[in-house]
Amino acid sequence: MMIRQKIFSEIKFLPKVGPVLGQYLANLVGGNRWIDILYHQPIAYNGKKYLPNIINIYEKDEVILNITPEEYIKPSKKSAPFKVKCFSNIGYIYLIFFKIYPNFIENNLKIGEERAISGKIEKFNNQWMISHPEYILPVAKIDDIPKNQLIYPLSAKITQKLITQKIKYILDLLPNYSEWIDQNLLKEQKWLPWSQSIVNLHQFNGENLNPNNKNRRRLAFDELLAIKIAEKIYHKKNKQNLGQKNIQNDSLIANLLKNLPFELTNGQKDIFNEIKNDLASEKQMFRLLQGDVGSGKTIIALLASLILAENQRQSALIVPISLLAIQHFETLSKLTKNLDINIALLTSKNTKKQKEKILGDLKSGKINIIIGTQALIYDDIIFNDLGLVIIDEQHRFGVMQRSKLVAKGDNPDILAMSATPIPRSLMIALYGDMKISLLTEKPANRQPIKTQIMSKSKKEQIYNSLHNILSKEQKIYWVCPLVEDSEESELISLEKRYQELQNHFAPEKIAILHGKMKEKEKERIMADFSNPNSQAKLLLATTVIEVGVDVSDATVMVIENAENFGLAQLHQLRGRVGRSDLESFCILLYDYKLSKNGRKRLEIMKNSNDGFFIAEEDLKMRGFGELVGTRQSGLPEYKIANLDFDYDLLEIADNGARLMMENIAKNKDNIINLLNIFGLKDVVGVLKG
Ligand code: ADP
Ligand code: MG
Repeated sequence: MMIRQKIFSEIKFLPKVGPVLGQYLANLVGGNRWIDILYHQPIAYNGKKYLPNIINIYEKDEVILNITPEEYIKPSKKSAPFKVKCFSNIGYIYLIFFKIYPNFIENNLKIGEERAISGKIEKFNNQWMISHPEYILPVAKIDDIPKNQLIYPLSAKITQKLITQKIKYILDLLPNYSEWIDQNLLKEQKWLPWSQSIVNLHQFNGENLNPNNKNRRRLAFDELLAIKIAEKIYHKKNKQNLGQKNIQNDSLIANLLKNLPFELTNGQKDIFNEIKNDLASEKQMFRLLQGDVGSGKTIIALLASLILAENQRQSALIVPISLLAIQHFETLSKLTKNLDINIALLTSKNTKKQKEKILGDLKSGKINIIIGTQALIYDDIIFNDLGLVIIDEQHRFGVMQRSKLVAKGDNPDILAMSATPIPRSLMIALYGDMKISLLTEKPANRQPIKTQIMSKSKKEQIYNSLHNILSKEQKIYWVCPLVEDSEESELISLEKRYQELQNHFAPEKIAILHGKMKEKEKERIMADFSNPNSQAKLLLATTVIEVGVDVSDATVMVIENAENFGLAQLHQLRGRVGRSDLESFCILLYDYKLSKNGRKRLEIMKNSNDGFFIAEEDLKMRGFGELVGTRQSGLPEYKIANLDFDYDLLEIADNGARLMMENIAKNKDNIINLLNIFGLKDVVGVLKG
């Protein structure tokens, strides 16, 4: 008999949290249970200066001070802050408050009463000041202020103090699970028990910030193990599953192929044949379509779903963002405009009325193909007869999301599509349970994209050649530097570039896209930019221009500070151009300081257009310890595992999962604990059922 653990309670039930703050916390940590907060990792640490004196204090130091308030300086106008002039052993210091609760100052900073405070010290008009001190305590409690602090990523409404307190609270509730990792592996890697590893992860220790530290690595292994187990549980179920046969009868497909504006490549034909055979068999298909960017995966997905339509059955195409859903909807609608089929688009932005209609038509079977985002997996979505689930950019979806959609049909066939090639070894370690189709051939009309490496100092020259492109009515993407984890500084660099571009191009020719924009706004801008008659011809963007966006008259991709991007990401970005028979260019701009590996990456890009080759090189370079982001690399992202550092653990996890599954009876408790920790509750259900 298992006891339900407190750590699996919902965040809103944490003391002093509630639904509103709970939602903010859940969004920040990417999960809505207490345990999810413990998987939120520190990104930095900061040591505070304890009672420093005037000779060893500098601007921006984090300090702990004793202060005595001497005078309140009330704001002269509403927008001005409330100031408290205080005396301390570094001289006068002003505490600044922009927003205060009534009586907060009077209660906490009484004139003449000494207090211990902490905060970041700054100099303004030659005066020391601290705005919004983090702690204000009676002097006797000075040691309650943490001197050394881990710094966690934050979001609106969540402070360091809050997240630190919650972590501390939950750490005390960790259950003592029996070990699920093989003893030999544990010894070999010098890993500690699960609970100890979590506790250590949140201990002040510089080593913890090294991504290869053994605490994080152990927890990462747990996660990979849990996912592998989940995959195997589903796969085992899949293998036994029998669905229906879907036989092509050409009532739709022949018609589509006749009107297609291009000829399918041999690669596309071969893969469609593989899929056709899978669909015709009553065994449940579980296939991954791996293709290079721009190789034409979408049309294969359409052909497969037309077979289903020919059998009066339904297909669902799920994509990670609504922008892509809209784009697929438009593409497929255009391609099938002469066919008698019904395609629908479902995102979280549909109005209530639209949604009701879609739900009705889906249930009655009137809709043949539905394209949508996560909204497709909600409980209210009911199909008449879902026979095929297609997952685009499949690395962006977890096992659970996939299986929720799949559960809406009677063992429907599954086609997963990749965003970008990944190395062969990783492909097998990650997706060994699927059948894999490789689409390496690009449509014949394509010219290879010409890639140039240029110093930023040559920008003027580039502006001149861009005029040339614009005069041909072709389009340009300009990607601003990737700035370390900070959307703010990304915006600043975008703003700067915008000013400069305006000196060279008419403002109406330039469109801007960045992550801080509302989803609707982004959609509007992308929709406009992809229209052949759009006024805007140059899209200035941060790295938000998503994987998968297809604007066929875009022919130039400029990437600033390209040396900071990973190879897979560069390839993915470059893949936004060269999507037609027009000659296309990619310009990789670098700053004057170019590291050896930075240069090497750019050279690889210059010399190859082959995504599969680039992916292999990318993997090799990871070994050199240069940090390259997994974002847009076509690899899945996890809670704590990170394939930049943990790819060596994949195979071990796969093996471990297999061994545990071979003796389910003995390992059942361990498996359930592990699945629960990573929120794979539905899988536990499958296992028990
Ligand atoms: P991806 O594989 O990156 O998802 P898409 O499916 O978006 O690529 O296809 C990229 C572009 O190539 C689309 O505009 C599509 O219409 C076009 N395309 C697909 N197949 C062919 C083909 N056989 N010949 C010419 N163009 C094609
Ligand atoms: Mg695509």
